[in-house]
Amino acid sequence: MSTLNTVDHPAVIAAKKVATEEWIEVLDPSDGRPFARVPRCGAAEVAEAVAAARDAYETTWRFTTAAERSLVCRRIAQGLRAARSELAALETRDTGKPISQARTDVDVAARYFDFYAGAVEALGGETILSQSDLLAFTLREPYGVCGHIIPWNYPLQVAARTVAPALAAGNCSVLKPAEDAPLTSLRLAEIALEAGLPPGALNVVPGYGEEAGAALTGHPGVDRLAFTGSREVGEAVMAAAARTIVPVTLELGGKSPHIVLPDFDAEAAVPLIVRSITEHAGQNCSAGSRLLVHESVHEELVAALVEAFRGLRIGAGTTDPDMGPLISAKQHARVLDYLAQGRRDCVLATGGGVPAGAQYTDGFYVEPTIFDRVAPDHRLFNEEVFGPVLCVSAFGSLDEAVDLANRTSYGLAAGVWTSDVATAHWLAGQLRAGQVFVNNYSAAGGVELPFGGYKRSGIGVEKGLEALREYTRCKTVAINTRPRGRSL
Ligand code: NAD
Repeated sequence: MSTLNTVDHPAVIAAKKVATEEWIEVLDPSDGRPFARVPRCGAAEVAEAVAAARDAYETTWRFTTAAERSLVCRRIAQGLRAARSELAALETRDTGKPISQARTDVDVAARYFDFYAGAVEALGGETILSQSDLLAFTLREPYGVCGHIIPWNYPLQVAARTVAPALAAGNCSVLKPAEDAPLTSLRLAEIALEAGLPPGALNVVPGYGEEAGAALTGHPGVDRLAFTGSREVGEAVMAAAARTIVPVTLELGGKSPHIVLPDFDAEAAVPLIVRSITEHAGQNCSAGSRLLVHESVHEELVAALVEAFRGLRIGAGTTDPDMGPLISAKQHARVLDYLAQGRRDCVLATGGGVPAGAQYTDGFYVEPTIFDRVAPDHRLFNEEVFGPVLCVSAFGSLDEAVDLANRTSYGLAAGVWTSDVATAHWLAGQLRAGQVFVNNYSAAGGVELPFGGYKRSGIGVEKGLEALREYTRCKTVAINTRPRGRSL
């Protein structure tokens, strides 16, 4: 391992910029060309980072007060806002997403640090009134060193979502960003240091999943793991956590449905249904990728959605279109494979391939696509495409709608569109999903709203106050308050 100071984007370990002999090229999804490099960290760098986090935890961070940690988190939020243009430009180049979305991502990342800065000052335990002569209470203590592994779709947002509550609660962190979009995580570490976070409290080790990721999940010095990514890798992370017996949060994929009833408000629903599956080209864990619509409004709604999809502007994220490219050639090939199968087996309502035009040949673009009459046993109904592909199925009764909605193995989010409040409540109770949106739909909701998957969409909760509790553990203290004698 050597240290360096170049235009490349080195790892950040113990506040030092760290390079490796081998580097990973980072591609711009809009033209497929490399524009940056990050170190290919492996077991050695991960071990350095875990040791640095342990050292920071044992020597400084665990002795800070909640008010001191709160202040640093607020300064990190300010630092993120001050670097908004730079971070948004970096995120757009790295992920391909429209620049206005990338700006929102920076704002949301800052909000996470602000939210947990406030929340940690109100965090406390409970007193337990079990016996009159026993003073029993719980303490919320940090775990120590947390390992965080994140995906490439919302890198800065998800980094902040997982690291902010961990740091606020008093843990120190090692973050492994995705190899396809690691740059804003590295800048986050620099901004956090400038904000006064002690060296080693946040370390960022870019690298491949099977190398840096596996080294982090298997490291015996890590006390808690948080993983956001695919279900397949989530299984491997959980198996690794089982070997070291550490708690793990899994935020995995989804196949989230919109349920549209005959009394829905089309004006409100159509733009949000479109956005929920085309934002960041559908590369969104809580994308509304299935549309379950009552047969009486099926034709009308599909026609409105087709019109809206055809009106979307597609282009490089820097031009701020409605939809940018997919992240990589691999993801492009994967989505095109789903499109080919959908064209064979379902009714293609719009899209279905690569957009026409010379400007789309180099990057990883696909058309926003609607497949109609998708059968519940089809892969498109059940598997996460992670692209701008909406699958429509019609239903005739509420029970059928619930059955279709709950039929996949995922359970991340759901949308319900109806003017009837009783039906909305009833449906919210029936849906096996971690978040249910009624007459609105937002990717994972706000910073304050707890977010976690049912079924194979994951374990544990991020966001909101719940996440702060997840990054602390409970210790019970019981004090015998019976005096040894009444006279002193
Ligand atoms: P991925 O699972 O391929 O990769 C996620 C991260 O895991 C990356 O950093 C990768 O390098 C790392 N990794 C890969 N193999 C590993 C291993 N063996 N050990 C440890 N780490 C390893 O996912 P992706 O393609 O980056 O992201 C897309 C997936 O993420 C989708 O399924 C999406 O739904 C999910 N996602 C979920 C949420 C959520 O909050 N529920 C948010 C965003 C994305």
